[in-house]
Amino acid sequence: MADTSTARGLAAADHDALLGARCTACDVQIFPAQAACPRCGAPTADCALPERGVLWSWTVQRFRPKPPYEGPDEFEPYVVGYVDLGDVKVEGRLDGRPVDAWTIGDPVRLELGAPDDDGAVWTYRWIADDGGAS
Ligand SMILES: [Zn+2]
Repeated sequence: MADTSTARGLAAADHDALLGARCTACDVQIFPAQAACPRCGAPTADCALPERGVLWSWTVQRFRPKPPYEGPDEFEPYVVGYVDLGDVKVEGRLDGRPVDAWTIGDPVRLELGAPDDDGAVWTYRWIADDGGAS
């Protein structure tokens, strides 16, 4: 497992995965990482989440969200969904195919945003995974 002890933001320290956490008592996995388990309150240990998963559910955002949304002036509908990574489901934006062309169970892969000036990553999205190398 990657050493994520110094990670900040939503990505693991080596910036190739999302930073989650696993409860040291009940074993539940969570995202984003937090120090205490939301189920039982025990301490957690950081863990890097899988970079590939399958679409669990999705919907299309067809109107411009309220501020602080800062998308382009010309709003275009986009897809958001939950990705099943095995032990945890992670919400996120979906890209890589037309908005109405998604199906539950579609394979997706993680794409992390660029790090900020402090090296922390705060954005990510899920890309349709048609089986090629990432
Ligand atoms: Zn727990």
